[in-house]
Amino acid sequence: MTRLLLHACCAPCSLEPVRLLEEEGFEPTICWTNPNIQPADEHDRRLEELRRWCAATGTPLIEAEEDTSCWERSVAPIGARQRERRCRACYALRLAEACRVAECEGFGAIATTLAVSPYQLFDTCNDVLERLARAHGLTPVIRDFRPWYPEATRRSRELGMYRQNYCGCRFSAAEAALDRARLRDERKAGR
Ligand code: SF4
Repeated sequence: MTRLLLHACCAPCSLEPVRLLEEEGFEPTICWTNPNIQPADEHDRRLEELRRWCAATGTPLIEAEEDTSCWERSVAPIGARQRERRCRACYALRLAEACRVAECEGFGAIATTLAVSPYQLFDTCNDVLERLARAHGLTPVIRDFRPWYPEATRRSRELGMYRQNYCGCRFSAAEAALDRARLRDERKAGR
């Protein structure tokens, strides 16, 4: 079995990647490092849900370092208008920390639960993971978990998990609120 460090953005997005990676013969340990999540009580709520699920299922969890001031310096100034650049920098900050931990703790492979969400920038995220993993001597395990997103949604609801409705940063909270308003308007207009 290959020990794999699985960067996790939240508990609901961990469900299917852990199951699928185990089916492939990996032995996943979850790694939490998400200094992008705002505000602080939202961050703590997502982490607490992940802790609960890991404890209940016996999935090992490493809580890595989180440098929120680095996120504010290196990601936030990119702002709302350049989403690809902003998310690339955000993925890089989180996955660099996960790769650092993986290398220090002797893992052979690394992956991320971000690959289950159709709302993430899949190719950008994989590109970042691939580069960072290689730089740390790790095997990047690039998988498209997106077809299992509906199943992750179903299972997380069934388990009564907390499910957030935006990615994490304040920009994504505003973007998601705008999207919901647009969809409401379209429904009202019968489009
Ligand atoms: S939308 Fe998500 S990935 Fe992109 S910068 Fe915000 S928190 Fe990071």
